[in-house]
Amino acid sequence: MIFFAILIAIVISYSLFQWRRKREGLTQHILNDAQKALLAKHVNYYKNLSDTDKLYFEDKIEQFLDDVNIEAVGFELTDTDRLMVASSAVIPIFRFKDWSYRNVTNVLLYPDTFDKDFQYEEAGGRNIMGMVGTGYMNGQMLLSRSALVKGFSGQAGKSNTAVHEFVHLLDKADGETDGIPEQFLAHQYIKPWISMMHKEVNKIEKGHSDIDPYATTNEAEFFAVVSEYFFEKPEQFESRHPELYSMLSRIFGQSPAN
Ligand SMILES: [Zn+2]
Repeated sequence: MIFFAILIAIVISYSLFQWRRKREGLTQHILNDAQKALLAKHVNYYKNLSDTDKLYFEDKIEQFLDDVNIEAVGFELTDTDRLMVASSAVIPIFRFKDWSYRNVTNVLLYPDTFDKDFQYEEAGGRNIMGMVGTGYMNGQMLLSRSALVKGFSGQAGKSNTAVHEFVHLLDKADGETDGIPEQFLAHQYIKPWISMMHKEVNKIEKGHSDIDPYATTNEAEFFAVVSEYFFEKPEQFESRHPELYSMLSRIFGQSPAN
């Protein structure tokens, strides 16, 4: 109950804050050198970009931090936490022009795991690490800080929980979280994409794939899980799953293996 009250208070105060900011027309977040150094230290994706692309990435991070409120529940939020959340959001949409996440206003970071008293889309073993809210929790994302940090540590292999959750939001941009990001995939590729997903799910179920079996939960999870792999281990993903790689390159408008 107390948790509920705190959550509602956070949402209300944030809405007021947003409204006031919009009225005053302020841009809040300009990254300083220390924050850019943190990006270079913790975010491989950023580190590998050209100097021009680094500026572009920083700009998108600033936009995200202006649009979306990040709150820590039960601990003090650091710049590194903020930048990791924002990077997870920016990586999948990096090559989209003028994209902003309209379906998230708050990211709540929990120190470790959280229990599942709300209405969420995730089911199964992953839901303690990250969730996208539905129903009255629409616009809320919950993330475990330890999963967030692990995703950027270089020790998480092909997984990155926070990127996974933001890919769900991209998927959801057309109204349905169904593994078919219609806004980013031309109509003629939709059927091939669906059959590609089903073919790979078969392989995973037979133990003939190195993709995390969580991908077999449903199409939405498939899309989110292979996207993590695509961004975390692009070269490996391209060599083992060339067809999936080229389809995801088409969807995200980028080829991280190069
Ligand atoms: Zn998921």
